[in-house]
Amino acid sequence: MTDIMIVEDEAAIRQVIAMHLQLVGHGVREAEDAANARSLIAEKKPDLALLDIMLPGEDGFSLGEYLIGRDVPVLFLTAKTAVTDRVRGLSMGAQDYILKPFEPAELLARVENILRRTRKEDTTLICGGLMIDFAARRVMRSGEEIPLTTLEFDLLAMLARRRNVAMSREELLAGVWGYDYAGETRTVDVHVQRLRGKIGAQHIETVYKYGYRFNGHPEGNT
Ligand code: CA
Repeated sequence: MTDIMIVEDEAAIRQVIAMHLQLVGHGVREAEDAANARSLIAEKKPDLALLDIMLPGEDGFSLGEYLIGRDVPVLFLTAKTAVTDRVRGLSMGAQDYILKPFEPAELLARVENILRRTRKEDTTLICGGLMIDFAARRVMRSGEEIPLTTLEFDLLAMLARRRNVAMSREELLAGVWGYDYAGETRTVDVHVQRLRGKIGAQHIETVYKYGYRFNGHPEGNT
């Protein structure tokens, strides 16, 4: 599970951010100031830090430098509209910034972008009794391999890597079959049905009038 640290002194904002990140399956740790953040970092380096700039005591820029120096991706949350602050954050090496107030959907999109760019992808995922080995392209249940076609594996891998996030039929078609594939979204439905038949229908849920979602929280990954 992705470990995202939120450093923000306003509890209401922190909680809203935490709730939205958790809804899409991310792990969240919260700090209300830099001192707290530093003790969280000492326990474990987060995969991403969302950092408010105006903090009591040590400010977000100072903490940001410390994090960036330790290869932790940083997204600045800033109420400041001054161009100099935005430029300062980016020139320090922050991945991105977002101006407050922001829409949760925009924040989530920026977070996913950063994670996609920076994440060391899991090589295996164990979820609901299913073990997916992305590198070996094998799927096992109770020690037995489930034989999948190339397309079925690609479809499962794409859904499982973005687990707990709804993916549209168009996204799946483009990602698995390729952007130049002239097929219909019905193709996705047919292959999802076959995949469910092999791995168990409970893993892939239909998202009404949209697409599909792989459900589950990893029991462990390497
Ligand atoms: Ca603040």
